[in-house]
Amino acid sequence: MQKLLQGLAHLSGLRDRQMMDLALVKLIGQSALWRFNVVRLLRAVGPPDDQHWVTLGQWDHQHAVPERDEVWLDVSTLPRLEDFVHREAAVVTESVIRAGSGPFTTIFPIDTQASVCSVLEVESDDPVPASTEAQIDSVLHLYENLQGLLDYGERDTLTELLNRKTFDRAFLRAAQAPSPERPLDRPERRSTAAQGGYWLAVMDIDHFKHVNDNYGHLIGDEVLLLLARQMRASFRFHDQLYRFGGEEFVVLMRCADHNDAQGALERFRRQVEEHAFPQVGHITVSIGFAPLRADDTPSGAFDRADKAVFYAKSHGRNQTCSFTTLIASGELVESVDALQDVDFF
Ligand code: GH3
Ligand code: MG
Ligand code: MG
Repeated sequence: MQKLLQGLAHLSGLRDRQMMDLALVKLIGQSALWRFNVVRLLRAVGPPDDQHWVTLGQWDHQHAVPERDEVWLDVSTLPRLEDFVHREAAVVTESVIRAGSGPFTTIFPIDTQASVCSVLEVESDDPVPASTEAQIDSVLHLYENLQGLLDYGERDTLTELLNRKTFDRAFLRAAQAPSPERPLDRPERRSTAAQGGYWLAVMDIDHFKHVNDNYGHLIGDEVLLLLARQMRASFRFHDQLYRFGGEEFVVLMRCADHNDAQGALERFRRQVEEHAFPQVGHITVSIGFAPLRADDTPSGAFDRADKAVFYAKSHGRNQTCSFTTLIASGELVESVDALQDVDFF
């Protein structure tokens, strides 16, 4: 009991989602609720017709330190949703699923956001008693509430994209992240995105003032909401999507190379162009993007992408411009300040 309470106190003090996920599996594994061999926190990711399981946290009794899949893994290398019918059943029926006859697998659905499907899966040599199931259920309830609190602080209320406040931390983590490794569930398959880098894209809706002027602010807000939905459908699960304020959006993405980044952004730009928004009809976006560099700063990378957006705006809008290409062709000149390492101390 003491261990459980200590674990809950630790969990509720965390503000970082990844650390919270790891703390959750460790808490359930080590708090003597039951003799578990493995505790896993899993989430279904990817487009609705091609979903895969990503491991957000895994504790096993032989390793005290919990692990997780790398954030930037190629989703297609992860186990497919339909290959784990019991997990799927827990999500669909929103109830605990008990499988196996020794070892035993017990799967708990987790209710965080409507669009997110997560489960907690525990493995044990003996069946989990009903009283332990009830305790785990209560711990998961607390976890759901903590996630809700984080959402409240980190997400934009209109679009539910991440807000600007969380950008710097995510940026620094991305810049320092190691190359993706094998998924925990699939030791034999390696990620195809093992090489590559990080790109930052800034997107701004073209002539958005006209939308507000002609249709009113409420319809304008609806366009922002629908655009955010399109972003979620178009970009990959590990790309981080932000609303930076107004009608400006930012994507922090891991891509194999420059063409991969440009391709993903162009695909999104075309989707927006072709989409008929209710009442308003068609809108377009201008996009600028730049690669993250070694020792980059969030504001440095943002400025470079923003310069490329500015170029797009002043050269006809509705296009995707690469900072790298514009510098190489001489159409943009990088300021000397940005190239020099500023060292005041
Ligand atoms: P440009 O193509 O140059 O980007 O033209 P623009 O009209 O989009 O110009 P600008 O980016 O300067 O204007 C942004 C406008 O977005 C100003 C404001 O009316 C509108 N806006 C900013 N935030 C919100 C919001 O939260 N809701 C709504 N409905 N409109 C917003
Ligand atoms: Mg703007
Ligand atoms: Mg605009």
